Amino acid sequence: MRRNTLLRASRRIAARARDAWRRTWRKGVRIKSPEEIAIMRQAGRINALALQAVREAIRPGVSTAELDAIAEEVIRRHGAKPAFKGYPGPYPFPATITVCINEELVHGIPREDRIIQEGDIVSVDCGTIYKGFVADAAFTVGVGNISPLARKLLQVTEEALYKGIQQARPGRYTGDISAAIQAHVEKHGFHVVREYTGHGIGRWMHEDPAVPNFGEPGTGERLRPGMVLALEPMVLVGTPETEVLEDEWTVVSADGSLTAHFEHTVAVTEFGPQILTKL
Ligand code: MG
Ligand code: MG
Repeated sequence: MRRNTLLRASRRIAARARDAWRRTWRKGVRIKSPEEIAIMRQAGRINALALQAVREAIRPGVSTAELDAIAEEVIRRHGAKPAFKGYPGPYPFPATITVCINEELVHGIPREDRIIQEGDIVSVDCGTIYKGFVADAAFTVGVGNISPLARKLLQVTEEALYKGIQQARPGRYTGDISAAIQAHVEKHGFHVVREYTGHGIGRWMHEDPAVPNFGEPGTGERLRPGMVLALEPMVLVGTPETEVLEDEWTVVSADGSLTAHFEHTVAVTEFGPQILTKL
């Protein structure tokens, strides 16, 4: 695997980056009306169109900046706005999507000189604001021939997302989602991240409740109809530990091992979980 050429940031800078991210969090669970959920579904559909266009463009030789331009074009063409661009952090996030290759887990900044290669696994995360509401989703895909380990990682991480979604029902708890994700990931010998979590979502990208990828059933926030959650297993092959690169955004596995990330925005309804970020 290609070694990452960007240096890791000091612990102090990494802590500052994590604090900046946490400060954007809105306290208090906000219940959405059916009308608001309908708007979020529209936001989610535009977000899905952007992610689909990016997925189709991923191939050896393409830069992560080119992928970013594709996503932004789709979002703006539909009268929506990128949710990540300008998002507060150590400095405002400079792009529409985050792109993470191999050991990069989340928050990777698209760059002209970051070129995708055969055998890479590539995670793309995208957020869209439409009529005042945010949708947030992510996928990881292999480029050409990837290793059996990478293939298993992608499969297990995506399965873990759907195990979590199945728990997103009235009367269950955020801890039920967390435990379902963690159990599936650890059953296959992989690790879930500790420092970054799923989240409530609505008028703000990050709202209460936090939905960690680890936890105990029956704990946390009791789920009610009208809650909307971004569920997002972030999975690492070799360790749960992460570090932040000197760009102060990109989070990588501490041991350089492969990582994967899948995410959907999901409404809790009396009819069961409804995924809002699909076509
Ligand atoms: Mg996301
Ligand atoms: Mg998210």
